[in-house]
Amino acid sequence: MADGFAVQGKDGPLEFTAEVEAATAGIWDKVKHHVTPMEWRVQAPLIAEINRLKREKNAAILAHNYMTPDIFHGVGDFVGDSLALAREAAKSDATIIVQAGVHFMAETSKVLSPDKKILIPDLKAGCSLASSITGADVALIKQRYPGVPVVTYVNTTADVKAQTDICCTSANAVQVVEWAAKEWGTDKVILIPDEFLARNVARQTDVKIIAWAGHCEVHKRFTASDIADMRAAWPGAEVLAHPECPAEILEAADFAGSTAAMNDYVAARKPAQVVLITECSMASNVQAESPATQFIGPCNMCPHMKRITLQNIHDALVFEQFEVTVDPEIADRARLAVQRMIDLPPPVVPARYDLVKARHHVDVELI
Ligand code: SF4
Repeated sequence: MADGFAVQGKDGPLEFTAEVEAATAGIWDKVKHHVTPMEWRVQAPLIAEINRLKREKNAAILAHNYMTPDIFHGVGDFVGDSLALAREAAKSDATIIVQAGVHFMAETSKVLSPDKKILIPDLKAGCSLASSITGADVALIKQRYPGVPVVTYVNTTADVKAQTDICCTSANAVQVVEWAAKEWGTDKVILIPDEFLARNVARQTDVKIIAWAGHCEVHKRFTASDIADMRAAWPGAEVLAHPECPAEILEAADFAGSTAAMNDYVAARKPAQVVLITECSMASNVQAESPATQFIGPCNMCPHMKRITLQNIHDALVFEQFEVTVDPEIADRARLAVQRMIDLPPPVVPARYDLVKARHHVDVELI
């Protein structure tokens, strides 16, 4: 290649030709604020080749909100949060699904699409929250609290979901907890494994919450002083926080909700400046849809999500690696827990954590 910016494809170097430039022009428009022209000369040929391979192999790519913009906008057929992606995978006609996300997400896709080949580009793409608990832990918890329903966040392995009564997301956790308490006729619910999500949910409901001390290593790193510094530097900026953050962060924010709720908030209110207290790439990806809004750090990256790159997505498609499988018996039980949640009516107001009405002193039992 004349300018030296070649990447290796299956049959030789992938070059930044006029044809590649034309095929990826629309994508460049979305990523040009996050990718330099020099980087683009490497990324565009890979993107064009990945999109060609998808057609050749009848494959689809699920790109999580925390993927970098080159993946999110460049090759994602479906984009969104982990559950939305798994549901899209199940509906898709593709026979191969590449999960541009972490391992538990690929498992959830396999649970909902048992007949499809689910690939993850890097088997080491894990999650601090998902690895904080095992199915055996949940079995012991159930022995300790007989008759108390177990609600499990979707950010868990299939093994954990298989021990669960119903799953939840940060968008519907309050609704699911209240449904489970009513259905089981109890005043308490086990909500695992995210301690901060559980504590934030506890402040929105009368149901008593039993929690597990698991954390997302990205969201637990934010501090109230980060927000104070942001407000001092950008006095007009609106601060949006994810409910996997500690309660002090939600208290210091203007709005709290799931990634989908943050998206909705920015799209509806079009703030001039916004701070997203969540994984770094979310802001870059939302920005393409809201060009008038200025997105400001702090920027915490998920090291697990960042293991996924254009190059390993390309290799996943070429070599059909690395396949994620789930024991069929575990998958059947995990599917019941996920399906129970899917069958509930969608929340009236998606995912908003009401910071004004929230009670500030709620006891949560930590296992
Ligand atoms: S952002 Fe947090 S919850 Fe999501 S994969 Fe990374 S560590 Fe896990």
